[in-house]
Amino acid sequence: MPELPYFFLIMIKLLLRYILDIGLINKIKSYEEIKTKVVNCKLCKLCITRNNAVPGHGNLDAKILFVGEAPGKNEDKMGLPFVGFAGKILEEALEKAGIKRNDVYITNVVKCRPPNNRVPEKDEIDTCLQYLRKEIQIISPNIVCILGATALQSILNLKSLTIYHGKMIVSDKIKYFITYHPAATIYNSDLREIFFNEISCAVNMANK
Ligand code: SF4
Repeated sequence: MPELPYFFLIMIKLLLRYILDIGLINKIKSYEEIKTKVVNCKLCKLCITRNNAVPGHGNLDAKILFVGEAPGKNEDKMGLPFVGFAGKILEEALEKAGIKRNDVYITNVVKCRPPNNRVPEKDEIDTCLQYLRKEIQIISPNIVCILGATALQSILNLKSLTIYHGKMIVSDKIKYFITYHPAATIYNSDLREIFFNEISCAVNMANK
């Protein structure tokens, strides 16, 4: 009966495909729930001045999740994260690292734009962090890449980006890689070079 093992092989393949599909369907469902909550959220005062809340966006099966500070003017207008010049720099860094924007998930610590792009306040961060935690739980990436000092302070309660950039820190079983915010590299080509190298490093770690 040479056909029998082949039959079982096909059945195992179909079963695995079914399990993977169910996993992805559950992720999509959980993501849509969190997205709806963010879009309608009025838990902090940033909801008064925003045009659009900006939920995270990207590949729900991403191996790497990027988290910045807050939406800016373009993001607030479009309801999507990292669509301005900083987003272009991040995309360039990803391409240099051999992946595309579609391969990753991108979000922010706070989901609504602070007025005049001021730094988000502690009460706003503390209130909004629940959404980031949920996003990390849903995506379950190999690496969470922290972009900039505000995200570093908000997520890991660490102050010095100068000390921690380029390093990985494990907290609550989640691996965090720390680097600069792409906006900080706009007028600083040396920093841009470091940023590109560190993004490559983070992507390599995520792919291991
Ligand atoms: S910043 Fe976060 S907590 Fe505040 S209103 Fe927006 S989504 Fe809600």
